[in-house]
Amino acid sequence: MIPPVLPTYNRAPLAFVKGEGSWLTAEDGSRYLDLGAGIAVNALGHANPDLVATLTEQAGRLWHVSNLYRIPEQERLAALMVEHTFADTVFFTNSGTEAAELAIKMARKHWYDRGQPERIEIVTFEGSFHGRSTGAIAAAGSEKMVKGFGPLMPGFVHLPWGDMAALAAAVGPQTAAVMVEPVQGEGGIRPLSDVELREIRRICDESGALLIFDEVQCGMGRTGRLFAHEWAGVTPDIMMVAKGIGGGFPLGAVLATEAAASGMGAGSHGSTYGGNPLACAVGARVMEIVADPDFLAEVNRKGALFRQRLEGLVAAHPDVFEAVRGQGLMLGLKCKIAPADLVREGYAEHLLAVPAADNVVRLLPALTIPDADIAEAVERLDRAATRVAAA
Ligand SMILES: *Cc1c(COP(=O)(O)O)cnc(C)c1O
Repeated sequence: MIPPVLPTYNRAPLAFVKGEGSWLTAEDGSRYLDLGAGIAVNALGHANPDLVATLTEQAGRLWHVSNLYRIPEQERLAALMVEHTFADTVFFTNSGTEAAELAIKMARKHWYDRGQPERIEIVTFEGSFHGRSTGAIAAAGSEKMVKGFGPLMPGFVHLPWGDMAALAAAVGPQTAAVMVEPVQGEGGIRPLSDVELREIRRICDESGALLIFDEVQCGMGRTGRLFAHEWAGVTPDIMMVAKGIGGGFPLGAVLATEAAASGMGAGSHGSTYGGNPLACAVGARVMEIVADPDFLAEVNRKGALFRQRLEGLVAAHPDVFEAVRGQGLMLGLKCKIAPADLVREGYAEHLLAVPAADNVVRLLPALTIPDADIAEAVERLDRAATRVAAA
């Protein structure tokens, strides 16, 4: 019999009732060290006092008004994002998927309005993830996500991950945009190198195609810069943001240059909830905290510490692990065993990690994780790896 909750997830038999920083408390009162952070969502940890204060203050004042009116909290968050990024303008959504939808629409409308309606193709790399809407699964194109849901939205071109020669050949006068994650998340913490990101920018510039970065997972301080593309010194024309931006409150955004967004006038797009006062009050507080250079320096320091410890872990378990991947606090353990086995043994050690493709276990802790919790995490991973090896 189908359960009341549609069974689209293979859930672990764990339920949590309380969170604090990097820790979650289960129904039985036991505590789990959380290295998933709701899949890079709880960027400032659980029940962050600053965010709780911001949320409750706003909740007592005004939750929601329609986008038929000006929304000062939304204007404030948009101004913060424009101040700290390449972007000139921002549209707020409730999720990363919705951000992907708008990014695709915006790129096509840009060319339509410039008298090149044939420029509709969006080029993506294999292993990417942009969400679960019909457009987002067509964009990523993986068999696992699209099977049974056809006919798919046409106009997407899928290339082998990181294949620059294939990209140069595929991008042309029919290309609206290239859409890539600077660091693939679901794809297994696979970063494109700075050289590759610059090459992608160059290929786009040559043909005029727009460049869309999906920073839903790798953005908002996760890699140690506010946005991951900053490491490479290139900027996109359009960027998708979600996950960490709300710190746990559903919020996403599409950031764009004035030129890329030129087609999106009144009536061209909309959202009932997107950018409402409650979400944007929280998002603005997250932005203020994460965009602070001192905060980002701490993410880099913690990331380097964690990485160094993980290199030791990999060396200690050569039958279980192959390598450490990633940057900042977006880390992955490339495994020689099934990643799901390590995640399961992690549960036994009261540690939460997240499996990804390409045989990787993702470690995406709160960006505020204390050094002591990093040390504790590595000890628990060490015991979990010993259990996997013994099984
Ligand atoms: C999670 C994710 C999405 C989809 O975001 P949702 O909020 O689940 O809709 C899109 N792109 C990337 C890179 C993601 O990691």
